[in-house]
Formats: sequence, structure tokens, C-alpha cells
Amino acid sequence: MPRRILIVGGGIAGLTASIALAKDLTPVEPDVDIAIYDSRAEHSMGDGGAMSLTPIAQHYLDQLGVLHELTRTGEETGIEVTEINIYSLRSGRSLGPLRFADETGRGYGGYKSRRVLRSALFRAMLAVARQYAQISVEFGKKLSSTSTKSNTVTLQFDDGTTTTGDLLLGCDGVHSAVRTLLVDPGNQSEYTGISFIQSLAPAERVSLPSHFDESAIHLTGQGSLLASYCNPSHQTMFVAAIMRVNEHIIDRYRALAYADTDIAALTSAQMALRYQVRSKFGTSAFPWIREWIEETRDWELYPIYQVRQRGKWHVDRALLLGDAAHAMPPREESAAYAIEDAVIFAQIFARGRDRPLRDVFVEYENARRGLVDKAFDATRRLWQSDLDKGLFPGQFRDCMSSIQLPPAPALDKTADDPKRNRIFPPPTHESMSDLSVYTLTSELEVALHVDEKGIKVPA
Ligand SMILES: Cc1cc2nc3c(=O)[nH]c(=O)nc-3n(C[C@H](O)[C@H](O)[C@H](O)COP(=O)(O)OP(=O)(O)OC[C@H]3O[C@@H](n4cnc5c(N)ncnc54)[C@H](O)[C@@H]3O)c2cc1C
Repeated sequence: MPRRILIVGGGIAGLTASIALAKDLTPVEPDVDIAIYDSRAEHSMGDGGAMSLTPIAQHYLDQLGVLHELTRTGEETGIEVTEINIYSLRSGRSLGPLRFADETGRGYGGYKSRRVLRSALFRAMLAVARQYAQISVEFGKKLSSTSTKSNTVTLQFDDGTTTTGDLLLGCDGVHSAVRTLLVDPGNQSEYTGISFIQSLAPAERVSLPSHFDESAIHLTGQGSLLASYCNPSHQTMFVAAIMRVNEHIIDRYRALAYADTDIAALTSAQMALRYQVRSKFGTSAFPWIREWIEETRDWELYPIYQVRQRGKWHVDRALLLGDAAHAMPPREESAAYAIEDAVIFAQIFARGRDRPLRDVFVEYENARRGLVDKAFDATRRLWQSDLDKGLFPGQFRDCMSSIQLPPAPALDKTADDPKRNRIFPPPTHESMSDLSVYTLTSELEVALHVDEKGIKVPA
């Protein structure tokens, strides 16, 4: 069995893989050595505002002890979202709630949606990883080249150091160097045309009370504007404009935003983003939105890239997991696929640890490829159909319906209750796609068109 497992990328897939492998392997192989290398500095890990965790993502994080670590931290735990209110941005009309709980308050498989700061999730995952003596994590290690011999793989980092192991997991995200250098050279990431322009700030930035309890999506033909509290005290707000952004704006933003500590250049890039958000979402029926946009100067740009579908996932001693293998068009479930990749791989590897790596990789790919392809096809089809109709994806096809849960006694269970799995069936991706697939029902399409054309917006 490989004794030294190298993981490039200490994000969601990499940290999950390390914890799942340590959990599954250490009872039988206590000498295993799992080394994670990430290009970023530790303090900048988890940049990128807030993200939503689906029930299935939380189910796995619960099993690995990460949800417990997250809930232990109080304010960092994020906010459990029972429902997202959906509105027409221009008229202010309510288009119905997207529910993550049934009428008794139970979430899907026992979990609702959770909006959490990326930095908080990263810290919780790192804390759990550091509980295992077998796991080491090094930051500031950017992979620059790789070489393989029959039984080993060697990594070179851009600081001139090298390391050697017998198994390599490429968990280095959508622009993966493990993919482009070793596993599937030429398979470069592609820009989807859609970006998040987002801001994270104290909720008191706006003096008016918000018009939603936890989270709201505001739809317009030009994009959608998500606003969500991120912590139990409702002190932090995440606002993201999800819209088409031309690639040349991205290049310009990068050139300005990363121009060596040039504050004026950064300010100019942020003003350009502000202009984009204002022109698409500034005319809204909601005074709260108008004030947020007016008061916000520190917008940040996160373009969405994808990886060509049906590319290679493994070669010799290296396997790709998470976005490195299959970053999809925007879909608020992608982290769940990365987490599940890591958990399933750890299980298959631990079970067959003395088999040739190639057999383990093939078994893993057989277990994952169909599900990932299905999710990829569905997301791309839905986005394309909305774009073809001239509608910007309004997200959430079935936003008028609540989750269908099997009847069960209404029990008030806490997030990390071990009885949860016996009471609720585990959540699945299928169950989530009814909730979070990105398209509009025809009913919503009609409502939106009427609003876009006919309704006067209050000054
Ligand atoms: C704007 C935006 C919003 C999103 N919102 C959501 C959401 O709400 N819910 C959801 O489920 N998903 C969301 N996603 C998708 C989700 O973020 C990804 O699916 C998830 O982060 C994938 O995890 P990963 O570990 O594969 O990659 P990543 O999280 O990207 O981690 C990759 C790691 O590899 C490191 N790395 C990269 N290159 C190198 C190198 N050469 N050497 C060493 N290290 C390297 C990086 O520093 C990084 O830490 C969103 C994505 C974007 C862009």
C-alpha cells in the first residue's frame, strides 16, 4: 500500500480527502503519511466570501467531525437557512419561498441549507485535519512541475523544494496544475461567461431593516442578486451579483487588482465593478438593496470557470478530485461533489489498499463518473436554455415547492446529533437538484417578464 500520500491543494477536496483517508486508514495502517501542499498563505485560505452548503455536503462534513467543529465555534458556525425568499428585483413582488425544511421544521435528511464563511469552513476543516498526527499541511507551496518513476511521484514547488510520495491526489481546483501538467495536459479551464461580483460586510452598512429573514434572491432578466446573513447574530451580510461579465473586464480587473499594492489601481477596479452592479441592479423596488449598492465600494470579482467534461481523471499514480476533475457551470452544489469525491475515494482506497493503484482508480471512476456527468449535463442544459431564451438564469427551478420528506416524528435534533442518520434518510444529490437547479419555471418566467416591462419602480 502507498505509505506517503501527497495532496496538492488544501481547499475543500484536499482537506476532506486528508481527513477521510486518515479516518479510514489509521486503524489499519497507522504509519500512513498524508502531506498537503497549498500554494496560498494560510491567512488567505478561505478568501471568497460566503458559500452555501447543501444537506448532502453537511451530511459528510458531519460524519467527518467538521460540522461539529464548525458549530462549536459560535458565530463562525454560519446560518442555517430554512428558506430563501425569491423576489422580482424591479417590482419587489414575492415569487415564493425556496424551502429547505418541511412544515415541522425538519431539513432534508435532517439538514437545511447552511450559509457559511469560506474562511470559517476552512478553519474548521484544518482544525479537524490537525487532530490526526498522520496529516501535515504546508502553505506557500505552489506546484510547478512533476515527475514520475515506476513506484514514485515527485513534486517540485516554485520555491525550489521537492517532495516524493507514492500516491498523488490533485485537489488543486479548477485551474489544476496536477491536471494540466500530468493527468490531462491541454485540458485548460474555460470561462463560463458568468461571474459573481460580491461583497461581505457588517449588516449595519445599511441603516434600513432588510426585507428578508435569512436569505433572499432577487431576479431580473440581467442576472440575480443574492443577499444572505452569514452568522447567527445577523451581523455579517453577503451580497453577490451573479451576472454575465465580459472576459476583457476580468483581465482588466486582474491587472488592476493585483498590481503590486497599488491602492489606486485596486480602487479603480472596485469602482468599475460597482458600476457593473449598479447598472444592473441599482434600480430596485427595495430601498435596502439600493442603499447597499450605494454604500458598497469594496466589491470583488469571482469569475466562474469550468473544466471540459469527460476529461481524464487519473494517470499512473495520480488522481484528480473535486473541481480539478470536474468544475461545473455555476451550481451551488459543487462543493458537495468535491466533498463526496474525497469521501468515496477514501473508502475505496482503504478497502483495496493492497491492490494496484490503477484498479483502485478505475473502481473510483466507475463509482463517480455517471453521477458527475449527469450533474454536469443538467447544469449546462439548464443554463444554456435560459441563455437561449434571453433570460438570465433565475436559479431554482422548483422554487415554489417545498421539500418532500417522508413522514417521521418531529424531533428537535441538533446539527451533530448521532441519531440523525437513523431518523432521516441521508440526503442525495438527486433530492437537491429539485431545489437548486438553475432555471425558471414557466410561471416565474411570465411573472418576471411582466415585472421587467410593466411595473414602475419607486424612486
Ligand atoms: C464565485 C463562486 C461561488 C461558489 N459558491 C458555491 C456555493 O455557494 N456552494 C457550493 O457548493 N459551491 C460553490 N462554488 C463552487 C465551490 O467553491 C467549489 O466547487 C469548491 O471550492 C471545490 O473545491 P476544491 O477543493 O476542488 O477546489 P478549491 O476549493 O478551489 O481548492 C483548490 C486549492 O488548491 C490550491 N492550489 C491551486 N493551484 C495550486 C498549485 N499549483 N499548487 C498548490 N496548490 C494549489 C488553491 O490555493 C486552493 O486552496 C462556488 C464557486 C465560485 C467560483
